[in-house]
Amino acid sequence: MKRNIDLNEITDGRFYLLDDMVRADCRDCVGCSKCCHEMVDTILLDPLDCFRLSMALSCSFDDLITGEKIELELIDGIILPHLKFQQNTGCCPFLNHLGRCDIHAFRPGFCRMFPLGRYYSKRTFCYILQTKECPKPRTKTKVSKWIDTVLLPQNQKFINDWHYFLEDLENQLLSCPPETVRQAQLYLLHTFYRTAYSVSDKIPETAEAAFYQEFYKRFEKAQALLV
Ligand code: SF4
Ligand code: SF4
Repeated sequence: MKRNIDLNEITDGRFYLLDDMVRADCRDCVGCSKCCHEMVDTILLDPLDCFRLSMALSCSFDDLITGEKIELELIDGIILPHLKFQQNTGCCPFLNHLGRCDIHAFRPGFCRMFPLGRYYSKRTFCYILQTKECPKPRTKTKVSKWIDTVLLPQNQKFINDWHYFLEDLENQLLSCPPETVRQAQLYLLHTFYRTAYSVSDKIPETAEAAFYQEFYKRFEKAQALLV
């Protein structure tokens, strides 16, 4: 999701890399679940996020939609899934009655890094600290520790590849006829989200290593076909 914002208004003005220390550690969020409310359609899900959710709930991508955990939306010309926050309560569907995340080990990438965000520029990305989002007193921690992600080098490559693939595709679709746009949107959804990743192991390192392997087979084909 593209956002036109003044970074100085919402961040501390710094860019962070994995080895940098950042004031993001809110001490396990004890007593707070602010960022699990009222996020509406902003927690976008990449294929790894949906793979993790399917693992957590032992269900398919389509089950996540029919179970009202996620929904699809047209974002910058591409159909993408996001967490479906409940209309009546404004809560994330995975927030339990104790105010904790029911799928903590499988939570999406956006939730892992909050209150950090990603800043993309020149075919790469770094992290920013959003200073107005988390009200808790926070201590310093290493970015790599805070984002709590296994297989970090593969993960960072995946995040970057997926982002710029979508960006290239969005730009390309701007000049395509509506029927071609529709076909590309459905192809993307089918290839990267609806078609299950044949991974049975639930140990995060093994499962995600297998995910990346299968993702990149599909990615190479999609790149050749779409971009
Ligand atoms: S707003 Fe901060 S403390 Fe509250 S749940 Fe989010 S990250 Fe945790
Ligand atoms: S998935 Fe978990 S951490 Fe993310 S918004 Fe929902 S309850 Fe909060």
